[in-house]
Amino acid sequence: MLKWHVAAKTDAGCQRQRNEDNYYVSPDQRLFVVADGMGGAAGGAKASKLAVEILEQEWTKNPPSGHSAEILRKWLIQAVNKANEAIFDERESSALVKGMGTTVVVGVQADDNKLEIAHVGDSRAYLLREDKAVLLTNDHSVVQEMVRAGRLTEAQARTNPYKNLITRCLGHEKKVEIDQIPVELKPKDWVVLCSDGLSTVLLDDQICDIVSKKAEPKLVCEELVQQTIDGGAPDNVTVVVVHYLGSDNGSK
Ligand code: CA
Repeated sequence: MLKWHVAAKTDAGCQRQRNEDNYYVSPDQRLFVVADGMGGAAGGAKASKLAVEILEQEWTKNPPSGHSAEILRKWLIQAVNKANEAIFDERESSALVKGMGTTVVVGVQADDNKLEIAHVGDSRAYLLREDKAVLLTNDHSVVQEMVRAGRLTEAQARTNPYKNLITRCLGHEKKVEIDQIPVELKPKDWVVLCSDGLSTVLLDDQICDIVSKKAEPKLVCEELVQQTIDGGAPDNVTVVVVHYLGSDNGSK
């Protein structure tokens, strides 16, 4: 059974007045969430806040009946669906937040070295293992769908004027399609969840480099955010970092 430590950090970045990202880490560190809101001054921050609040609420008031991957996967999907419905209903009820929606990337830590991830939008989850970064999530964005179809290169996608257009989010439809990603973990793995404010500035190799040079999730969070700011941080930036250690006998 692996042990793990979680840290998180958010920053408005260099060009935005407001921070419309939100994150949550449960006190038992089993649930971690990054949400990146959109939809104008009133809507964006509200949508991402609602997403993390509903997930927190579900975790505390309607907790999963155990920590197996199967139970947590079911819990996760119902919780994300509930967040989607809450944002959708809020949006329907107020003209002020008509366009609001949010991305979400959520991890729940299961027993047996398994992590269950749910994902909607262009926030990301990376697995960092043996100095390599593996992107676990597919962005639901116009440009990344074109990259996957072979019509744009990764470099072209970074500068494409439509790079911020997402194709799926919480709150825009009554029902949302949720990607589910099961992850098998090993000792010394790191998992990074982030909003696109980080992944549009830092390349996979840079993320890997930062993680490999720091020993603690808190320091990794600080360095990831700092290097995003050094890179101009045109958008809000949020990161959750999880570090997996060896088994209970203390080996790393
Ligand atoms: Ca963003």
